[in-house]
Amino acid sequence: MADSEFSLIERFFQSALSRPDVPLGVGDDGALLIPPAAQQLVTSVDMLLADVHFYADADPRGIGHKALAVNLSDMAAMGAEPAWATLGIALPAVDESWLAGFCEGFFALADAHGVQLVGGDTTRGPLTISVQIQGFVPPGQALRRDGAKPGDQLLVTGIPGEAAVALAGLQGRLALPSAHREHLLGRLERPTPRIAQGLALRGLASAAIDISDGLVQDLGHLLRRSGVGATLELAQLPRSDALAALDPALVWEAQLGGGDDYELLFCLPTEQLSTLQDLAHDWPCPVTCIGEINPAGPLQLRDPNGGLYTPKDIGFDHFVGP
Ligand code: ADP
Ligand code: MG
Repeated sequence: MADSEFSLIERFFQSALSRPDVPLGVGDDGALLIPPAAQQLVTSVDMLLADVHFYADADPRGIGHKALAVNLSDMAAMGAEPAWATLGIALPAVDESWLAGFCEGFFALADAHGVQLVGGDTTRGPLTISVQIQGFVPPGQALRRDGAKPGDQLLVTGIPGEAAVALAGLQGRLALPSAHREHLLGRLERPTPRIAQGLALRGLASAAIDISDGLVQDLGHLLRRSGVGATLELAQLPRSDALAALDPALVWEAQLGGGDDYELLFCLPTEQLSTLQDLAHDWPCPVTCIGEINPAGPLQLRDPNGGLYTPKDIGFDHFVGP
């Protein structure tokens, strides 16, 4: 890209926020960062491709929000306090109004979480966004996938399935109830990373993962890493008014197999349940017990009559498809 385009992009990507642990951010060959002495650094990266992870013609503010939100969700799932981000972006052309919208969505969420954008790279190409993020966690307190124990309760924040229902609506696979349309689309386009919940679960949860590819699929990752099984009670899956307005069988499929929720799925020793209930009192999202961890064995999904349920689709795999 031409020099003027470079300075334009550099100007767009200047963080208003200035953290004391960033002596040098955007503008040099590299950023200088001061990692906190007594904490571990948690790092994560996600890629978003136009028309795979988002529609290229979607509101750029939503794209900016989601590009950071999916990374913040990884920090939440680690119990990490997010701090720094870098942004790699390929753009088909320099479109100032698109960039302004993208940055508005990105920086509103970054500022809300005290995250400073400290660098990045910009090239011309098919619209692709990659955000890297770093955060901190005290040694031994990270929420890992491999700590679940038989007897632990299985819980979830928020309402899984709403994002998948919204996507099905956009794709014309179902009619979104008009009274809930905006709410559902908001869950898909502007997921809420559960940072405060991840921090609160430090020292309480035995294992955690965020739901990006579907509840059953992501639960499967956690169970495999922990070497355990689980029973999930479909009757306990939380439903919002928006989901209650839809066919219940279809809602189960969305809740079990749909991606893009960015809710936290976590395990908790039973004796910690009352502590969690006290904490969750102030949370803006529900937290619901949906099952229990078993000794090693298959994941069992139980329908409300106690029978075993087999979902049609168990989540998104980029190499297999929906
Ligand atoms: P270099 O040629 O050394 O890679 P660049 O010209 O690519 O440098 O970038 C100049 C400065 O602008 C660097 O500090 C880089 O981190 C920053 N930068 C470039 N693109 C972005 C972006 N998309 N987001 C944040 N910072 C960016
Ligand atoms: Mg560069």
